[in-house]
Amino acid sequence: MPRFKKRHSTQTARFTLRGFSVGTKLYLAKIGSIKVQWSRALPSEPSSVTIIKDPSGRYFASFVVEKEPELLLWNDTSIGIDLGITTFATLSTGQKIEAPKPLKRYLKKLARLQKTLSRCEKGSNRRQAAKLKVAQLHNRIKDIRTDFLHKLSTQLIIENQEINLEDLNVSGMLKNRRLSKAISDLGWRQFRTMLEAKAIMYGRDVNIISCWEPTSQTCSCCGHREGRKQLGIREWQCLNCGVFHDRDINAALNIKAAGGHSEAINGCRRECKSEVNSAVLSDASTRLVDKQLELFAS
Ligand SMILES: [Zn+2]
Repeated sequence: MPRFKKRHSTQTARFTLRGFSVGTKLYLAKIGSIKVQWSRALPSEPSSVTIIKDPSGRYFASFVVEKEPELLLWNDTSIGIDLGITTFATLSTGQKIEAPKPLKRYLKKLARLQKTLSRCEKGSNRRQAAKLKVAQLHNRIKDIRTDFLHKLSTQLIIENQEINLEDLNVSGMLKNRRLSKAISDLGWRQFRTMLEAKAIMYGRDVNIISCWEPTSQTCSCCGHREGRKQLGIREWQCLNCGVFHDRDINAALNIKAAGGHSEAINGCRRECKSEVNSAVLSDASTRLVDKQLELFAS
């Protein structure tokens, strides 16, 4: 048996070159043939496979495959994105993107289940059952979130040449209660990873703006800086130029401005990037394929 590495409560085992082969079934050394439910066809011969067992006992196979970039036609659209908790993403275009509704509903349910779990006696059967329920709901939430993030990141990559995103750090983490913090943080990180991987794949640019940039304190019209604003303040008026701002849209506009400084820099970055493309690509496609294939051990 391969040794399973424990990563939190998810276990993984990796098989390289002669350790596996792919036919109608997946053959794994020392385990045998396993029936697979494919989520999509493999674009090329995989170089390794990682078997993942999640906390609720589902098995996945994640393949590492090389994939040629499919460069999209260059366009000159640039966008700034402000990530938040009440609204998942606010774009510099003024568009606000909410997280999917089932996600919100399940998050409430998750909080309830976790409360139940914490009240169960240690070592009891009821606790075991409650634990499984929490793990299963976590999975459902993860699936809905991943699906939403894939669709959104693909759409943004197709529509924009340059995407500017604020670095994930304290500013975001301070925003909410512990549970929602942990969960939304996970979504933000995943979202950024997807954007970066797809940018490489399709020839787009993703700029990460330092979290120390005062994006929510500065007026995007005149540049006047007013100092810290409490989170409850969703709208404000600039004391200098008098323009009314929606807090998140103003931040997204500042993030956009902080990213796209000049064409020259962008041009250079694009040239440098095409060289690293092939090198990072296998890694990027791994992330995209990650956990997409469900295995049913037979
Ligand atoms: Zn102003």
